[in-house]
Amino acid sequence: MNEEIRCIGCGSVIQTEDKAEVGFTPSSALEKGLETGEVYCQRCFRLRHYNDIQDVSLTDDDFLRLLNGIGQEDALIVNVVDIFDFNGSIIPGLHRFVGSNPILLVGNKVDILPKSLKRGKMTQWMRERAHEAGLRPIDVILTSAKKPLEMETLLETIEKYRQGRDVYVVGVTNVGKSTLINAIIKSTAGVQELITTSQFPGTTLDKIEIPLEDGKLLIDTPGIIHNFQMAHYLGKKDLRIIAPTKEIKPKVYQLNPEQTLFLGGLARFDFLQGKRSSFVAYVSNDVEIHRTKLEKADEFYQKHVGGLLQPPRPDEVGDFPELVRFEFSVKENTDIVFAGLGWIMVSEPCVVAGWAPKGVDVIRRKALV
Ligand code: GDP
Repeated sequence: MNEEIRCIGCGSVIQTEDKAEVGFTPSSALEKGLETGEVYCQRCFRLRHYNDIQDVSLTDDDFLRLLNGIGQEDALIVNVVDIFDFNGSIIPGLHRFVGSNPILLVGNKVDILPKSLKRGKMTQWMRERAHEAGLRPIDVILTSAKKPLEMETLLETIEKYRQGRDVYVVGVTNVGKSTLINAIIKSTAGVQELITTSQFPGTTLDKIEIPLEDGKLLIDTPGIIHNFQMAHYLGKKDLRIIAPTKEIKPKVYQLNPEQTLFLGGLARFDFLQGKRSSFVAYVSNDVEIHRTKLEKADEFYQKHVGGLLQPPRPDEVGDFPELVRFEFSVKENTDIVFAGLGWIMVSEPCVVAGWAPKGVDVIRRKALV
């Protein structure tokens, strides 16, 4: 091939030699694609037509190299994070990599948070958490790739800060970056669904460039894979259950000390010490929550994981990592966060424990709500 041909799904360079490598397309499919003007790599093709994900091998090193490249440019950096998985999607060292370029922090998926939440309070909360992680964004904005009006506001904000420069969109996998770029393309060029979107982390492989009106570019970069996200331990069907698609309905539990909540079979929350009080779970509406006594909890889990407590599904129980326990002593409004799954808000002083599959983080943070 003389000229570089790129997959319109993920932007990777098309090649016909190595099946296991990024950008592979069978020669016959490539010919067809060239005829119609729509060349997809096999991976994106399968994803679009069969909703079937193939593994990718974009390492952290590759991602850092790419980010370092951005440091040499004069550009606006749009860092997309998932507001539902804020801690799992923030990139703490971002400034170091993108040099002196300004960062606009975009909290995506605002549509799944309860409407009662005040936006001003949420952006303020995001700004504080970003500062804690060493990020000093020029501005913080909420958006939803699924709401055209939100996208309009986002584009206006990008336009305001870009001042004639290129725009790099960066983020970890699964924050909705591809969906967002698709929405931008839709509202600018009227070309739909150019980029592959999926519920499965790691689906945007290489840079993709979208021309802006003044000849500058909006550049989508591959997502970095944060391995401590719950999504990496679950099958596709489970992922559909834990990733909220609709506004979350918070679930309130009045608990006595020594009571336990199971979030499906994926996570566990123990109320160890404190006064009887309310605990609020913010997880996908499809995740079932079960309450039991602390002293019975281990036995309950062993007996019901994969059955009453799903996900994991019965055939996944064998490979599912054991739950690991983290203890927290809480003074005031705090979220106990299960990376990628959601969180439980605690408002009274107490001692609690959060359990998650080995490898998945449980952390505490100042309550969002
Ligand atoms: P990427 O890996 O960052 O490119 O993420 P994708 O664009 O593939 O999106 C990951 C998942 O999040 C998909 O299931 C999307 O449908 C979903 N998603 C993306 N943006 C939004 C949003 O604004 N709201 C909601 N509810 N879901 C979204």
